[in-house]
Formats: sequence, structure tokens, C-alpha cells
Amino acid sequence: MRAMVLERPRTALVMRERPAPAPAAGEILIEIAACGVCRTDLHVVDGELPNPKLPIVPGHEIVGRVAAMGAGVAGLAIGERVGVPWLGSTCGVCPYCRSGRENLCDRPLFTGYTRDGGYATHALADARYCFPLPERRDDAEVAPLLCAGLIGWRSYRMAGAGEGTGAKGTGPQALGLYGFGAAAHILAQVAAWQGRRVYAFTRSGDAAAQAFARSLGAVWAGGSDEMPPEPLDAAIIFAPVGALVPMALKAVKKGGRVVCGGIHMTDIPSFPYRLLWEERQVVSVANLTRADAREFLTLVPQAGVKSEVTRYPLAAANEALADLREGRLQGAAVLMP
Ligand SMILES: [Zn+2]
Ligand SMILES: [Zn+2]
Repeated sequence: MRAMVLERPRTALVMRERPAPAPAAGEILIEIAACGVCRTDLHVVDGELPNPKLPIVPGHEIVGRVAAMGAGVAGLAIGERVGVPWLGSTCGVCPYCRSGRENLCDRPLFTGYTRDGGYATHALADARYCFPLPERRDDAEVAPLLCAGLIGWRSYRMAGAGEGTGAKGTGPQALGLYGFGAAAHILAQVAAWQGRRVYAFTRSGDAAAQAFARSLGAVWAGGSDEMPPEPLDAAIIFAPVGALVPMALKAVKKGGRVVCGGIHMTDIPSFPYRLLWEERQVVSVANLTRADAREFLTLVPQAGVKSEVTRYPLAAANEALADLREGRLQGAAVLMP
């Protein structure tokens, strides 16, 4: 197998040849068809997340086919298409796992961070955390659903939306999305499909991103330093920029919630208490549960979600990361081995 490997944080990934690993009990070997590039990968590569396994193969939006199965794997077949998300495994016994919050597990493994991920031709995965992907849609277009889509969905639920997965969602009607990258471009379509008014905030002056947001159903798009034309019921921040927290608090109405959807953010500047007053809330979203994934992957075909992707060969992983870092991408980057 070939893999793009991070040997030390803040260095370029290097292509390495390795023998294809054999799956242990409970594991599957996946022949990878596509792997999305997520902002979290940038945080791993840039050394902004503590204690990665090193060397590490990044990538946690894996779409591929089952090439081999270890002992005891149930419910999957050789050749079946599966997706592998960020949540690589959990302990199953800690208080979080036992209370339906496996996203907060005390002893988790994360794909592409603490176990090898999908910037490769092959990967091992714990079969219990993989999802069959029966829908007939292009491999590359499915990949971003596995993190951008899933974390977007969990953030959306945290914002109070998404109760009932029909076209008549309850919860916030005016929803702000700060940072219009891979996650927001998927979530905007879901929110618009559910009849919500989506307000998209981009880097100031980024007319292309604003036009992109409007094309996906946003009723308004502007710079993150602008106030929306109506007060928001809730806002989700996907950009890793702490200064957006007080800006979003300013834009939400009384009782409104600001959800931070990223794993890493620059420091949040101090702000006057009156921005939080009147029962506004700031919360973060961490990881995902398998229940989130099943719910979201069921909803995607109903909502007609399309993902806009830019394909890169596996060997161009460093270029894909650089384009994401510099904001040169519309939608999501996907590596094709
Ligand atoms: Zn646990
Ligand atoms: Zn991710």
C-alpha cells in the first residue's frame, strides 16, 4: 500500500510504501476509493492538536470497499462500500459510552489522529464504527459527508434544529453559518430543505463564497463583520476563529445559542457580558456518535444534498491541505488514491 504520512507536526506529508496490513479480529481492511480533506487534518498537520500518534496517516472521511475482514466481523461483506468517520472506536464502558454520549468517550481512538487514516490506498478500521454506504453516488462526493456532513449535523442538532428529519423541522428558523466551507455548504442545503432561513457569513469581501452560499439556498450572505438583516435564532461557527464568538453572540437574539463546531479555535477575545446576557449560550460540539451518523446518512438522500468537491491525486495531499489553509477551495477537497 501507499500512504501520505506525517512524521512530525509542521512538516510536509511524505509518500511511503508499506505492506498492506492484515485485519485483526473485529477489523476490516478497506481499499480506499476517496478520502476527504477536513480542517481537522490541518490542525493535526500544523501541530494544533495534542499528542497525535506519530507517524500518522491523516484523513477521516474515508470511502472504500471491504477488501478483507478479521475474525468476528458481522454485517459487512467483501466488496461492500463503507465509510469510515473520525470516531474510530470507543471503550464502550466509560460513563459517557454508557449514557449515549460515546462522542465524549474517555478512551477513544480517532481516525487519522490516534489511528492511521485515509490518505492512503488502504486502511484498517474497527468494523463497528464503519457505515455501509449503499446509496449510488460518486465516491468522492460521499467522502465529505463523513465529517463535514456529520459534524455539521451534530452542530445543527446542538443549535436546536433537526428535530424530526422531515421537511418541516422544528427549532431555529433564522440560522447563521459562520465560515462557509465544507461543513456549511452541506448543512446549508439541509437547513434550506427544512425551510429555515440560512444566513451565511464568509471572510469579508469573499464574493465567490457568498455567491456559492446563495446558490445553495442561503437567503443572505455577507462578511462575518456584518450584521444579518434579521436577528438570528441560532448560529454555528465552523471557521477556527475565536473572534467570531462575540460577533455571533451579537447577531443572535435573546435565548439564542452559538455553537462552535470545530475542534480547534484561536483564542476568544474578551467581550462585554451584555452579549451573553438574556440567556444566550455558547456551546461546543465534539466528535460524533454512531447514532448521529445513521440519522444523517438516512436524511442526505431525502434532502437531496449535493457536495461540491475538488479532486486531488493522493500524492498531492500537501497541495490540498495548502489550498484549504489558504481558503482557495469552494466546498471540499478529496484525495483520490
Ligand atoms: Zn468510553
Ligand atoms: Zn473532520
